[in-house]
Parts: sequence; structure tokens; C-alpha cells
Amino acid sequence: MVRRIQLRVSLKEESQPNILLKKTAKYLSEDEKNITIKVLRKSIDARKPSIYFNYKMEVYINEKPSKTPDYEFKYLDVSKAKEVHIIGFGPAGMWAALRCLELGYKPVVLERGNNVQDRRRDLKAINQDHRVNEDSNYCFGEGGAGTYSDGKLYTRSLKRGDVRRIFESLVHHGATDQILIDAHPHIGTNKLPKIVQNIRETIIEHGGEVHFNTRLTNFTVKDNKIKSLQLQNGNEMKVNRVILATGHSARDIYYLLNDKKISLKAKSFAMGVRVEHPQQIIDSIQYHCSGERNELLPAAAYSLVEQVKNRGVYSFCMCPGGFIVPAATAPGEVVVNGMSPSKRNNKFANSGIVVEINADEDLYKYEHFGVLKGLEYQKDLERLAFTAGGRTQTAPAQRLTDFVEGKLSADLNPTSYQPGLNSAPLHSLLPKLIGGRLRQGFKAFGDKMKGYYTNEANIVGVESRTSSPVNIPRNEKLEHPEIEGLFPCGEGGGYAGGIVSAAMDGERCAEAATAGL
Ligand code: FAD
Repeated sequence: MVRRIQLRVSLKEESQPNILLKKTAKYLSEDEKNITIKVLRKSIDARKPSIYFNYKMEVYINEKPSKTPDYEFKYLDVSKAKEVHIIGFGPAGMWAALRCLELGYKPVVLERGNNVQDRRRDLKAINQDHRVNEDSNYCFGEGGAGTYSDGKLYTRSLKRGDVRRIFESLVHHGATDQILIDAHPHIGTNKLPKIVQNIRETIIEHGGEVHFNTRLTNFTVKDNKIKSLQLQNGNEMKVNRVILATGHSARDIYYLLNDKKISLKAKSFAMGVRVEHPQQIIDSIQYHCSGERNELLPAAAYSLVEQVKNRGVYSFCMCPGGFIVPAATAPGEVVVNGMSPSKRNNKFANSGIVVEINADEDLYKYEHFGVLKGLEYQKDLERLAFTAGGRTQTAPAQRLTDFVEGKLSADLNPTSYQPGLNSAPLHSLLPKLIGGRLRQGFKAFGDKMKGYYTNEANIVGVESRTSSPVNIPRNEKLEHPEIEGLFPCGEGGGYAGGIVSAAMDGERCAEAATAGL
């Protein structure tokens, strides 16, 4: 017999051996040796000082759970199959390629950046020498923007596909099966490269192709149908179906499409700064403790949102126990983002705090840029950060309360941001639309989380790559309405926001691109 039950385990109980088994046996009035537990979900309830773990479980009484995973991935040998070209090997491109293997089509992936191993050198060059390789950086390269990240896997887009399928395929490629259980699963930047490499190996082993250092520079359209791809190495490839999964930082692709008069739309997005607190401050607020957090508890996270003058101000991509990283994709700009190792054991907590930018109402000074107005606005802010940071990858920063009170900081707090910080008057440098709302937002956050609004935190500029400022349209067949065979996909098209939703969109585009091929 199988029973589904929920149990609460206190922090004190959690440290006791076999506590779940003991509590379950007692709850069901069964003998411990007759039951086997399969945990379905584990979450932490820290709303009150007495913290609990909530478990959802399947309990097998006098029987054993099946070891078969929910999904079995059957990848076919596609070496002689029809080809689907995939531009970009981020989550959207990777899962598009995996889905092609299941459907019996050969994915040919073209990726502008390096493989995960060589990409490390490019990241070191940004962090230590302030040199940005325009093809291989924190956003570009094998695994896309998701490789050197926190690897948070939660998504709000539950309806947009099967989240569980993506999780199971991550486990299939080496992720811990803990991600199937945790209410807020994450993988960590130290584990992601191996998983990404395993995905690449699956693709190649089954007859697919993955080409690194291969940037798409142009393509040919004839009779409204995509015909060939031109690459930066001078090669040309004849194509039939192309999945365009180049992410939201591939500005050259938006320019290319716009120059070719292929329709695009301006899209609302968000920009702001990254705030960094000592992790201990966040732990003490969230876990109601004064010193170190209990060792059974993970580094605490938070999620904040406030409406300020008709625009949302909210936390984005919060990284507990993490690092702020330089996420620029070209020289002359400063962009910050965050990542964490799997243990989230760094001593800082960072999060983007961003303001909604409404493409129809907020960008009137940029109207002459047409559909690319948001992109140009983004670029201006990143250039401003570069100048204010000191014209290197050093980022402009300010103590949090100084920012809100409009004072230049005499000095800054310690930081995890490796290229370093430069004190700058962000309160006056940021456009009012963003700076003014952030200042009000931070104060409101301080009311919601006592201790959050503190001069022990820095704000670091700028957090500008939250989502795409451009939408590449597609029809009900997921094809660009004007170009047969071109399938805009993932975050770059405006169809995803995060690793999991991009992966799900990749799967959907593979299904659409192979239909009737
Ligand atoms: P991308 O991941 O951007 O991939 C696009 C790929 O296309 C890149 O590899 C790029 O090199 C390639 N490309 C671009 N132009 C060309 C071209 N012309 N020719 C060939 N190839 C090209 N999301 C989460 O859900 N959880 C997180 O914890 C998280 N943390 C993040 C941390 C950081 C530092 C960053 C930068 C992002 C983070 N994100 C996170 C966001 C997440 O990474 C993206 O939402 C996701 O990667 C989007 O997937 P994608 O495949 O659509 O695009």
C-alpha cells in the first residue's frame, strides 16, 4: 500500500538520526521496518522563530518504491537523419538539441563562445585583466548564460511545459536528484559545467554536432524562406530549419534582423542595481537569529517586491552565499549579475534590485531608435556604469543608505566582486525613472525585512540584463511570421526568463521545427 502524507520536522528534530522514519511510523501506527519513505518535496518554514522543515512523502507500506524515473530519455542515433540548425548553446539551444535526438533529427549546433573548460580562461581575463572577449564571457559560451550562475531552477511558468522533464534530464546528465525534491532547487556554478559538458557529449555520441567559436554573422532568405547561414569563419551552410536561440545579450543578432527589415517588437524589461549584504545579516533576518545560522539551514534567500509610482521594483536572481560577477559582453560597458556555488557558502548575499521599464511609456527619448529603443537605453546605462566605475571592469558602487540619502560614500563595504568597486554617486547618475524608484523601494524593503536597509550593504551598478528588451515575433507554429524555417527561441526571442523556461522553450521549438520535416 502507498500513502501520501505531509509531516513537519522541527529544527531540533531534524538533526536526529532516522527522524523521518520514526515520525512517519508513529503517524501511521506502523512498524518502522515495514515502511519505505520517498520524499517528494522538502521546504523550510521560517516565518516564525521556531523553524520547521515540511516534508511531502510517499510512504510504501510492505512494498518498495519503483526505481524507474518518471521520464526515460531515449536518444536515437541521428547521424544520418535530417538536420536542424540551432544557433546558440544556452539552455534553449541545449534542450532543443536533446529534443531533436529524441525525435530522430540531427541537431547541428553553432555556438560563438568557447567550450566550458576554455571559457574559464575568458572569465579569468575579465575578472583579473578587465579584458572582455566579445564571444566568450559570462553570457556567451557553452551552456550560455546559465553555466556560471547560481543555477536556480525555479520558474513561475508552470504552464509553459513540463518542468519535471527538464529536472529529470538534468539529473540524467549528472545533477543531484535533490533538485527533484527541494522546493527551491539550485545546482551551483561549480557543478553546472560538468552537466553542460555531459549534455554536449550526449548530443555528439548520438550523431549530433556542436561547433564552438562559430558565430552566426548573417543568413540568406529567398522566397520568404531561410536558405543559408554565414559564419564568422567565412563558411556558409545550407539550411532548412533554424532555431535561433542566441539569448538576450546577442545585440548583433537584433541589429542584423533589424537591418534586414525583419519585424521585431520593443518589449518591456527591467533594470537596476545589484545589492550585496553580508550573508549573516540576511540569515539573521530570515531565520530570526543573532549569530551564525543553524548548520542545518541553507544560506537564507529573500524575494521582495514593491510598487513605486506605477512600476514594480523587485528583487531578481537572488544569490545566497554567492558572488557578484562581471557580465559584460563587450568592452566599454559594465554589467553585473550573480552566481553561487552549490553549497552557497560564500559570506555575501547578493540580488538584483530592478525597476520595470515600460517600453511604451518610459522610453520616449529613445523613440528614434524604433524597436531597438530598449536595447539602446540598456547600452547607455551600461556605458554610464563603465565611465563611473573608472573605465575598466571595476563597477560603480555606493553604500545602500548613502544611495538612498543621496550621499557619496566615503568608503565601501567589502565585496565579492572580483574586478573591484569604485565609489560613485549612483543616486545622481542613474536616470530618475530607475534611481528614484530604487531609493523608495529600498526603504520599503527595509520596512518589510528589518535590518535589510543598512549601510553594511553596497549597491553595485548596473543590473541591466534581466530580460530581453526586444521580442522576435513568432506565429502559432513558433516560426517567424515572415520567414519560413526560422524559429525564434528562448530568452533572446522574449519567450523565456531563466534556465528552466528557456530549456522548455527549446524543447517546444525543436518539436515545432521538426514538424513535417
Ligand atoms: P543564453 O543562455 O543567453 O544562450 C544563448 C547562447 O547563444 C550563448 O551561449 C551565446 O554565446 C550564443 N550566441 C549568441 N549569439 C550567437 C551567434 N551570433 N552565433 C552563435 N551563437 C551565439 N537563470 C536562472 O534560471 N537561474 C539562475 O540562477 C540564473 N543565474 C544567472 C546568473 C548569471 C551570471 C547570468 C548571466 C544569468 C543567469 N540566469 C539565471 C539567466 C539564465 O542564464 C538565462 O535566462 C538563460 O541562460 C537563457 O537561456 P537561452 O538559451 O535562451 O540564452
